[in-house]
Amino acid sequence: TSWPLKGEIKCEGLLIRYAPDLPDVLHNLSFDIKPGEKVGVLGRTGSGKSTLALSFFRFVEPTEGRILIDGLDISKIGLTDLRSKLTIIPQDPTILSGTLRSTLDVFHEYDDKEIYEALRRVHLIPAEDAAEEENDAANANVFRNLDSNISEGGENLSAGEKQLLCMARAILKRTKVLVMDEVRVFILFYYYEQRCLILTSARQATASVDYATDELIGKTIRHEFAESTILTIAHRLRTIIDYDRVGLDVSIVTTVAHRHPQV
Ligand code: ATP
Ligand code: MG
Repeated sequence: TSWPLKGEIKCEGLLIRYAPDLPDVLHNLSFDIKPGEKVGVLGRTGSGKSTLALSFFRFVEPTEGRILIDGLDISKIGLTDLRSKLTIIPQDPTILSGTLRSTLDVFHEYDDKEIYEALRRVHLIPAEDAAEEENDAANANVFRNLDSNISEGGENLSAGEKQLLCMARAILKRTKVLVMDEVRVFILFYYYEQRCLILTSARQATASVDYATDELIGKTIRHEFAESTILTIAHRLRTIIDYDRVGLDVSIVTTVAHRHPQV
């Protein structure tokens, strides 16, 4: 039940295609991630980054190759077990309908106080807010009432809010492996096409809409997942270097290049 203890990831010769008659999305992709390492994955639109993230949850199964976490081939682990031990924050999460509480605590493992605390950590409710003391149904803010209804697929939430809910769930679960797909964060060091670049100062953010939220979330991740292995997926270089800021300790960006996977 304690697997994975370390959070070491090995990808060995992954070949993934969505159907036998479709081209390979990932072709012979191999890489190693040490326990606790913060890794960024960078690649162009359609290069297969989300596919890689989904393969950790076995939403797509490789045709060849395997993913090992702490030495265990994830294809040998039951789906429910596997998915409860890792956290994936998808590019566009689907949230099941139900109450806010059931969304965050599927197996009724946490008390209200813990759930509110997680919501505070991801800044869906203000840090100093004593939400649990005024838990009334008439409350206007959906996140301050755990009995709030989340409609089908989370339609009443923005994509960012859905990602933050996934993050809150991750904080409750404290998994050893966290995979984030296009969650805006700061990246300081990265490798690009096997060259190591160290960014000391990137460009100023151009009127970034929620720079402050990004920064807060970055801090939360650094704090809550200090011991966990993190894979962060970013759409393009610009997304992650447009900040003049030393932020999250995401340390490496590897490249999943279309048809030329080299990590
Ligand atoms: P983006 O930066 O736009 O998020 P990505 O790198 O995440 O792109 P993927 O979503 O992994 O790219 O898609 C990789 C390739 O696989 C694309 O060519 C896409 O059309 C194809 N693809 C993705 N999902 C499916 C699917 N369910 N069925 C068939 N092909 C798919
Ligand atoms: Mg994607």
